[in-house]
Amino acid sequence: MDLGIAGKRALVCASSKGLGRGVAGALAGEGVALVLNARGAEALEATAAAIRAAHGVEVTTVAADITTEAGRAAVLAAAGAVDILVTNAGGPPPGKWTDWSRDDFIAAIDANMLSAVALMQALVPGMMERGWGRVVNITSRSVKAPLATLGLSNTARTGLTGFVAGMARQVASSGVTVNNLLPGSHDTDRLRGGDMANARARGVSFEAQREARRAGNPTGRDGTAEEFGAVCAFLCSQQAAYIVGQNVLVDGGEVNATI
Ligand code: NAP
Repeated sequence: MDLGIAGKRALVCASSKGLGRGVAGALAGEGVALVLNARGAEALEATAAAIRAAHGVEVTTVAADITTEAGRAAVLAAAGAVDILVTNAGGPPPGKWTDWSRDDFIAAIDANMLSAVALMQALVPGMMERGWGRVVNITSRSVKAPLATLGLSNTARTGLTGFVAGMARQVASSGVTVNNLLPGSHDTDRLRGGDMANARARGVSFEAQREARRAGNPTGRDGTAEEFGAVCAFLCSQQAAYIVGQNVLVDGGEVNATI
């Protein structure tokens, strides 16, 4: 299916690896020019080179921390006007609800709620003026089904979800859609890191921990960044113009709910 977005320009945040990279690859496959961002320049440049070679699209890179004001300013200056915004950043660390301080909450809310809000405030008005835009915020299945140890993530991402629920409906008449994409378990560095930590805590091998976790998913496997990217690209398509303010779960059916 031609998604009808060839020639558009997208900012994909936190995209040198993992889910962001999957999104960047899928959009590039549709002929979308990219602005890619991550903190580490080496992996970012390697990803940009691989995408240019595979898809022949223009790729601009900005090595910066998207969760800081200075980092966002650098990214926005390089990006200029974009048609598609995909917000993403690393997730907060796990822990116990009694241990989190005010500073821990502020840091998580800054990184996983207010960064996305600031990027939307900066870029969506231009999309509205031009009469077309797509925003996809990468959040987490924890918005629908909380993982207790990820309480900082649950808190910040639910806040972003509430913001989007109202804002998406205020901009839709200008041709701009805003939606959230909720990953379940996807085979990325972050998931592998979590499996390693849990394997150590339980005194089992990495493979045993990973297989036990995967057995709890109806598909019996993890998702791939490429599958996730393809769903995101569809939400950015012409065909998805009537999908507004939704929270789209990509989790292999692991959240056990009828609706
Ligand atoms: P990942 O494999 O660890 O990749 C993270 C990417 O983001 C890297 O390119 C990293 O590069 C970049 N990044 C991290 N922090 C950044 C920052 N402050 N500024 C700019 N770039 C940053 O992680 P992932 O699995 O793709 O996860 C992406 C998001 O989805 C996270 O918020 C995660 O919590 C959420 N999520 C993931 C899963 C899953 O199963 N994978 C499930 C639910 C939710 P640098 O380190 O060089 O900056």
